[in-house]
Amino acid sequence: MEIILYDEGTAQELDIEEIARYLAQKMGKVRVEVRGNPFAFNLSQDKVSDYARKIAGTKIQEVSQKILSGQEPLYGEIEYEKRRILGKTRSFGILYDGFHLLRIFCEIMSREESSLEFVHIFFTNRLFATWDDSNKRYHLRTSVYGIPSIISTTGLVEAPAKPREYYLLKQQYERLGKDLTELKDRFRESIIDYEDKRLTEVTKGYAMQAVFYSLTGAPFCEDKGCRLYNAHWQEELIFAQLWGEYEFCGRHTRILEGLRKK
Ligand SMILES: [Zn+2]
Repeated sequence: MEIILYDEGTAQELDIEEIARYLAQKMGKVRVEVRGNPFAFNLSQDKVSDYARKIAGTKIQEVSQKILSGQEPLYGEIEYEKRRILGKTRSFGILYDGFHLLRIFCEIMSREESSLEFVHIFFTNRLFATWDDSNKRYHLRTSVYGIPSIISTTGLVEAPAKPREYYLLKQQYERLGKDLTELKDRFRESIIDYEDKRLTEVTKGYAMQAVFYSLTGAPFCEDKGCRLYNAHWQEELIFAQLWGEYEFCGRHTRILEGLRKK
C-alpha cells in the first residue's frame, strides 16, 4: 500500500509533512509520499485552462439547486480558477460540489497509480458541499471519501456546527459592533477557527478516515472518542481528535496493530 498526499492550497494552514509522518507511524510498512500541488505535473497552458474550466463548472450557485455535471462557467470564473490552480490567489467564499470536485481530482491522478494499492488524499482549502436528496439542498462537508479522498481545512472550520450559544452570542456581538475575536477566544475549547494551530492535529484523524475508507470501505466509527468518529458538531470533533482518552477505539486499534505486524 502507498499513501500519496497532495496539497491543494493548504500550505499556510497544514503541516502535511507532519501528517505524513503520523500516517507512516500508524500504518507500519506503507510508503507515504507528500506530493505538493497536484496540478504541478500538468502545467501546460491547455491543461491549466481545461482544469480551470472543469473546476469552475463545479461551483454551487444556489444551495437548494443541484448542479448538473459539465455546466458551462463564465469567463471570469475560469480565469479565477486558473489563478487559483497556479497558487496566485486563495479560494474564499466559493462553494463547490464535493463529488464533482472528486471526479476532477481523479483525472489528475496518474493511471498507473489508480489501483486499490494506492490511497490518494487531497488536502484543500476549497469549501465543498454534497447534495442531500432527502431535504433537497447542499450540506457543507469536511471531507468526501472515495478515489481520491478530499479533506477541506475550510470545511473543518465551517461544516460541523458550533455550539448554539455561540451563534446567539455572535448575533449579539454583531449587533453591538463588538470584536468577534473576543467571542472566538471565549469558545476556544469548543470551536476550531481559521489558521488554528490545532488544524494539523485534527486533520490527522480525517486522513485516517480516508485510509480506513480505502482499507475497508468504512471510514467512520460510532465511538465518540475514536478519531474515526463522524462529528457533526465542533465540540464532537475536538473531543474525538484532541481530547479523547484514546486515539482509536479497541476495534480500530486492533486493526491498526494487525496492519503494523504484516
Ligand atoms: Zn473506532
